[in-house]
Amino acid sequence: MDFGFTPEQDMLRDSVRRFMAKECRRDYIRACSDNDRFPAELYDRMAAQGYMGLPFPEQYGGSGLGPMELAIFLEEAGYGWYGAGTSYFTTVVLGGYNVLLYGSEAQKREVLPKVASGQMKLAFALSEPNVGSDAAAVELFAEDRGDHFVLNGQKMFTTNAHVADRIVTVTRTTRQPARKHDGITIFLVDARAAGIEIRPLRQMGRSATHTNEVFFRDVRVPREAMMGRQDEGWASLNSGLGIERLSVAMMYAGTSQAILDYAMGYAKERRQFGQPISSFQAVQHKLADMQMKTDIARLLGYRVAWMLEKGLPCFKEMSMAKLWASEALFDIANNGVQVMGGYGVLKDYDMELFFRDSRIGMIGAGASEIQRTIIARQMGL
Ligand SMILES: Cc1cc2nc3c(=O)[nH]c(=O)nc-3n(C[C@H](O)[C@H](O)[C@H](O)COP(=O)(O)OP(=O)(O)OC[C@H]3O[C@@H](n4cnc5c(N)ncnc54)[C@H](O)[C@@H]3O)c2cc1C
Repeated sequence: MDFGFTPEQDMLRDSVRRFMAKECRRDYIRACSDNDRFPAELYDRMAAQGYMGLPFPEQYGGSGLGPMELAIFLEEAGYGWYGAGTSYFTTVVLGGYNVLLYGSEAQKREVLPKVASGQMKLAFALSEPNVGSDAAAVELFAEDRGDHFVLNGQKMFTTNAHVADRIVTVTRTTRQPARKHDGITIFLVDARAAGIEIRPLRQMGRSATHTNEVFFRDVRVPREAMMGRQDEGWASLNSGLGIERLSVAMMYAGTSQAILDYAMGYAKERRQFGQPISSFQAVQHKLADMQMKTDIARLLGYRVAWMLEKGLPCFKEMSMAKLWASEALFDIANNGVQVMGGYGVLKDYDMELFFRDSRIGMIGAGASEIQRTIIARQMGL
C-alpha cells in the first residue's frame, strides 16, 4: 500500500496552495460572503491558471487529469476558501463532469472547452419544492413536441444558477411511469431562455455561492439539448455520483484543516491564567481530535479517488467519505468556536463564518441520513 503522491501531484498541490493563499484574502472572502456576491474575479483567475479544465480530456480543452488530481485540487481549494471550492465544483463537477459522462459529442465539443477557459459557467438543477432526498420523484415536466420540448415547473436550491450560462436540468418526460426512476430526462438548458426566472435564496452560510429558485414557464428547449437518452436520465445521474461525493468530501477535508490551523493559531496566542490556552490539556485534546477527524476525512476521500482510478465499485465508500467529511467539518467548526470562546462568535474573526459555512455540508449532495441508509444497504442490511 502506498500513501504517497507522485512528484507531479505534489507540484499541483503546492501550486494550488500558493494560488489560493494569494487569491483568497480574508477581506475578499468577507466582501463576497457578506454581500451574497459570487467570487467572479477569483473564478476568472482559476480559469486563467487552467484549473477549470483539470478533469477534462485534452481533446475538449482540458488537462486530462484524473480523480486523484481533482481531489488534490479541491482539498487545496477548500483549504483556501470553501467558496473557491463551491464556485469550481458547481460548474466543473456538477455541470461539466456530467456533460463529459453522458452529454452528446456536440455538447462536449461546445461546452467543455468553454468551461475550461472560464467562458461558460454551469449549474445543476435536480431538487424541487417537492423533490429533496427523494430525488427520483422529479416533477418538472418536459413535453415532447418532436424537434423540441416544452418545460414547465420549478427547481429549488440551484446553486449558482444566477451566474450560470447553462443549467443541467433534470426533468420528467413520462407522466406516470411504472417506477419513478423511469421517465426522467436531462437537458442542458440555456439559462437565459425565454420563460426562465431565477430568484436568489438567502441562506445562513456559503452565501457567496448561494442557491436559487428557478421557474420554468413554457421554456422551449431544442431536442439537441438532451443529455443522454430520453427517459433514462436516472442511470446517467448515478454515473456521476462518485466524482461528486469525492469532490465535496475533499473540499470539506481542506476546509477542516483550515479551521483547525486557524483555531490552533489563536490558541497559541490567547493567554489566560498566565499561559497560552494551547498549553491546557482540554484545549489540546480538542485540537488533537480535530486533526484526527480531518485526517480520516482526507484518507476516506483519497481511498475513493484511488478506487475510481482503478475502476473499482465504490458506492459505499463514496457515501462514507461524504458523510464523514461533512459531519467532521461541522464538528471541527463547532469545536473551533469553543476553542476561541467569545471571540469565536464575533464577526471580526473568521471562525463564525467557518461555522455558518460548515453547516450545509450535512444537507447538500445527499443528507447524512440518506448517506447512512446507502451505506447500510451496501452492507446488505
Ligand atoms: C447549500 C445547498 C446547496 C444545494 N445545491 C443544490 C444544487 O445545486 N442542485 C440541486 O439540485 N440541489 C441542491 N441542493 C438541494 C439538496 O440536494 C437538498 O437540500 C437535499 O437533497 C435534501 O433535500 P431537502 O432539503 O428537500 O430535505 P428533505 O428531503 O425534505 O429532508 C428533510 C430531512 O428528512 C430526512 N429524510 C428525508 N428522507 C428520509 C429517509 N428516507 N430516511 C431518513 N431521513 C430522511 C433528511 O435526511 C433531512 O434530515 C442544495 C442544498 C443546499 C442546502
